[in-house]
Amino acid sequence: MEYIDLRSDTVTKPTNEMREAMLRAEVGDDVYGEDPTVIELEKLGARMTGKAAGLFVASGTMGNQVAVLSHTQRGDEVICEAESHIYYYEVAGMSVLSGVQARTLPSVKGVLSAETIEAAIRPLDVHQPRSALICLEDTHNRAGGTCYPLETLAAIRKLADRCKIPVHIDGARLFNAAVAQGVKVDKIAQYADSVQFCLSKGLCAPVGSLLVGSEEFIAKARRYRKMLGGGMRQAGVIAATGIVGLQSMVERLAEDHANAKLLANELATSGFAIDLSTVQTNIVIFDVSRTGLKAADFVARLKKAGVLAGAVGEYRVRMVTHHGITAAEIAKVVDVLQHLPKKG
Ligand SMILES: *Cc1c(COP(=O)(O)O)cnc(C)c1O
Repeated sequence: MEYIDLRSDTVTKPTNEMREAMLRAEVGDDVYGEDPTVIELEKLGARMTGKAAGLFVASGTMGNQVAVLSHTQRGDEVICEAESHIYYYEVAGMSVLSGVQARTLPSVKGVLSAETIEAAIRPLDVHQPRSALICLEDTHNRAGGTCYPLETLAAIRKLADRCKIPVHIDGARLFNAAVAQGVKVDKIAQYADSVQFCLSKGLCAPVGSLLVGSEEFIAKARRYRKMLGGGMRQAGVIAATGIVGLQSMVERLAEDHANAKLLANELATSGFAIDLSTVQTNIVIFDVSRTGLKAADFVARLKKAGVLAGAVGEYRVRMVTHHGITAAEIAKVVDVLQHLPKKG
């Protein structure tokens, strides 16, 4: 069966241009700092985000964990949103690897306010951990691909400067945020000390993420990447695909956003409970409780009808648009959703 796969934008496959770039890529041993293609990708990512240096890592998870390792010491506290990926989906990595605890805060649709963060910053006190890092997620995955308003980022930056706490943005889908907000990514990244973004999601590279920040930060991060087993030798063959992603796959993310809106509007018209204000980028999360089915059962029925989606809560279903999903396929998905056998 040919499925329409809306589980995630991670299912995107490398484009032909990427395959050709892999074939042509000049490579060397990157642990010796000798892979010209990795160096080119790291420089490109740093330049686009307005940072001094970049580090190619195996995954977004590795990028986030290396960032926490580089910003904190054992016994510190990391401020993050209650359903953030770094807390929710990274196997308790920050506790295990960095020896820090997460301070999880409630948000409005994935967006933390400066006031909420300020109230959680610890005073100097012998009993309390040190507030060592503020982590923001842009776009926010479990909130449905929501973006941080730039004013909110500016306010958080001001607070962080006042309290001398670094800010890390988990920007797995940073380019989706930038395209949705009509700005270049450096306009978002300017508010953070470090940013992680995925090449392997909407940008269609098969593997990898970039971590960007100051020279000093990246030098530290490079040691931690090595510690985690992330020294990848002739990684230029995969870095080449990331270069193509950054150069030619960013603007087209707008198509994914248009398809997500199309899908979301149809879902709302068909009677599914959905908060359209969260559909800002390429993620659509909706509630299926009105069908009498739990999300897992709903997703199983969708699969039988040829559509793959994800269950992200008891009654919450997630669909993600990406390269390779066309408006015509969205129409098919809508048709399937409207005719899905109900419970009983
Ligand atoms: C996907 C994702 C990650 C992790 O990326 P992997 O490459 O899958 O490890 C981190 N943060 C967010 C917000 C994500 O959506």
